[in-house]
Amino acid sequence: MGGAVGDALGWPVEFRRLDEIKKRYGEQGIETLVLNETGMAEITDDTQMTLFTAEGLLRASTRSNLKGICHIPTVVYHAYIRWLHTQSIKCKGREEIIENLDGWVSKIKALYARRAPGSSCLSALSSGEMGTIEEPINNSKGCGGVMRVAPVGLMFSKKHAFKTGCELAAITHGHPGGYLPAGVHACIISCLIEGMELEDAVISAMQELAAYPRNRECLDLLNKAVELAKDNNPPENALWQLGEGWVGEEAIAIAVYCSLVYKNDFRKAVCLAVNHNGDSDSTGAITGNILGAYLGIEGIPAEWREHVELKDEIITLANDLLIGFEDSDNWWNKYPGW
Ligand SMILES: [Mg+2]
Repeated sequence: MGGAVGDALGWPVEFRRLDEIKKRYGEQGIETLVLNETGMAEITDDTQMTLFTAEGLLRASTRSNLKGICHIPTVVYHAYIRWLHTQSIKCKGREEIIENLDGWVSKIKALYARRAPGSSCLSALSSGEMGTIEEPINNSKGCGGVMRVAPVGLMFSKKHAFKTGCELAAITHGHPGGYLPAGVHACIISCLIEGMELEDAVISAMQELAAYPRNRECLDLLNKAVELAKDNNPPENALWQLGEGWVGEEAIAIAVYCSLVYKNDFRKAVCLAVNHNGDSDSTGAITGNILGAYLGIEGIPAEWREHVELKDEIITLANDLLIGFEDSDNWWNKYPGW
């Protein structure tokens, strides 16, 4: 829910530079959700793909309970093929996945809206090949991997969350800067859900990252984010030092910085995370995921929760991730095990 709100806040300014944002929304930039003609704040590909990550994890959970064994990335890959279908794109050689669209998530009509989906995700998924860390599908380090993995942290403990976050991002992003930040994101969420303080969760995720190969760029930028957050610099002046968030490590570093600086104020943190030259909806979404997990649902302004698109579906999926698996007809229909 936090991620969806941050995503929706950033969407109107995703492709605008800061001076344009200020010209349009005032000196403080955009400070509240923009509602469409139906009175809802639109979510984008970041939240749409996050919901399919959740669906894939839940179907993997059903499969584990059915078969006793399950390769999680493959089941989530199939969920991403269903996401690709919502964007009206076919996946070469995988037609059988969408011929029989079961489960409830692919039937949510609003998910079929196209909100500037990332090119790496579209091209990797339409290729019919599934990327892995060992066999990279491309050399992309865009933020399309890191922005979609928050549900991993709601399901797994920190080590497992880090590894799974990386694996799910590597389906579409083959460069370490594309998948390692996803491990960090999932790991932070997992630590927070277990009750860790925010600073400790960040450090813990960085310790996990340190054990992975080719971590230098991501680790350096996260260190910089943590150091900047300890300074008393005006945040707007510090933020640009972390980049613009179009690539994975910049996106996670910006989100970590904004979360640390305003850790008890969801509103201020996500406003900081979207008012810059870069990829506002993704940095808003990741910041919202982190602080949503840290502060809980009550920490997210009620009027924002009320107006975010697909709010009921988001809550249902989050609750189901907490349950994990239920041996009932309803569950099997919602999350078939393949
Ligand atoms: Mg987006």
